[in-house]
Amino acid sequence: MTAANGIKLAEEIKGEVRYSVPLSEHTSFRVGGPVDFLIFPADLEDLRKTLQWCRRQKIFYFILGNGSNLLVRDGGIRGVAISLARGFQGVAELERGEREGLLQAGAAEPLGRLVELCREKGLTGMEWAVGIPGTVGGALFMNAGAFRSEMKDTLESLQLMDGDGKVIETRREELHFSYRSLELKKGWVILGGKFRLKIGSSQAIRSKMEDFLKRRTAKQPLHLPSAGSVFKNPSRVSAGQLIEEVGLKGTRLREAQISEKHANFIVNLGKAKARDILTLAEWAKEKVYQEKGVKLEMEIQVMGEDE
Ligand SMILES: Cc1cc2nc3c(=O)[nH]c(=O)nc-3n(C[C@H](O)[C@H](O)[C@H](O)COP(=O)(O)OP(=O)(O)OC[C@H]3O[C@@H](n4cnc5c(N)ncnc54)[C@H](O)[C@@H]3O)c2cc1C
Repeated sequence: MTAANGIKLAEEIKGEVRYSVPLSEHTSFRVGGPVDFLIFPADLEDLRKTLQWCRRQKIFYFILGNGSNLLVRDGGIRGVAISLARGFQGVAELERGEREGLLQAGAAEPLGRLVELCREKGLTGMEWAVGIPGTVGGALFMNAGAFRSEMKDTLESLQLMDGDGKVIETRREELHFSYRSLELKKGWVILGGKFRLKIGSSQAIRSKMEDFLKRRTAKQPLHLPSAGSVFKNPSRVSAGQLIEEVGLKGTRLREAQISEKHANFIVNLGKAKARDILTLAEWAKEKVYQEKGVKLEMEIQVMGEDE
């Protein structure tokens, strides 16, 4: 695919079209080759035109949030990454009753800002998400969770754009969430969500957040690039515990390492390649299966092609 393919779209939209952009600059792992196009639609009309253009050109596209759950292979992605970061942010209180409040958050809003607004407004139910480095859209798509809570718990409805560019509001009851997953039709885009939260004491909210953050910092290797947990936790034992029990904690392959602090994290020690991270993940998967009989399933999203 050449830059010329994107020129027409760049003329049609108010937002920006960039060519051959290294995804190592847009993912928390800091690895990954270039994507052919990185497009920043400025509004709904731009996004609609972008989706239609991708469909006409028969180009693969995906939504890039904060890249904190993505592992892009070293050869990059033949296709389009769409970032909603310039026009789909914003978080606001829509309603306030005696017992509850309703917040609206745009898909590109950092999840941390939503958590912070809840604290400011004295709304409880999102404290568990403090410290998760994604966007609201990415967290909804992944049904992100921690400390026995997850995104779906407080969600009231989701604004979506379907593959034809139509905007739809869907209530939570009509959506299918499961552990770290939301079933969404291929090509659909999350535009934002409404969250219903209970009114709580500001002091209690603040101390819950501090406690969660402390527990996160104590357990996770937050000083090194990663994409959080590599594997989903199987039902009884945590993936980290299994990897530790088979003796792989701390295993290093060139600049990638199964974290010494948390065995379900693989960290980039500097110039890691996606290839090395994937090999480590493969070793962990194989050894846990051989020795424990448990099939680990990837939580991080792996995309792109080898170098
Ligand atoms: C240090 C660290 C700690 C973490 N801790 C946790 C944790 O405790 N719990 C947890 O669940 N996760 C955790 N994560 C993983 C990650 O932060 C979450 O999954 C986060 O919600 C991903 O959001 P994102 O915006 O970065 O999404 P991305 O990584 O950019 O994308 C993830 C997926 O969502 C899709 N997507 C993104 N936005 C949209 C949209 N608007 N519409 C449709 N699809 C979309 C993407 O195409 C991709 O398939 C952690 C990651 C790190 C680095």
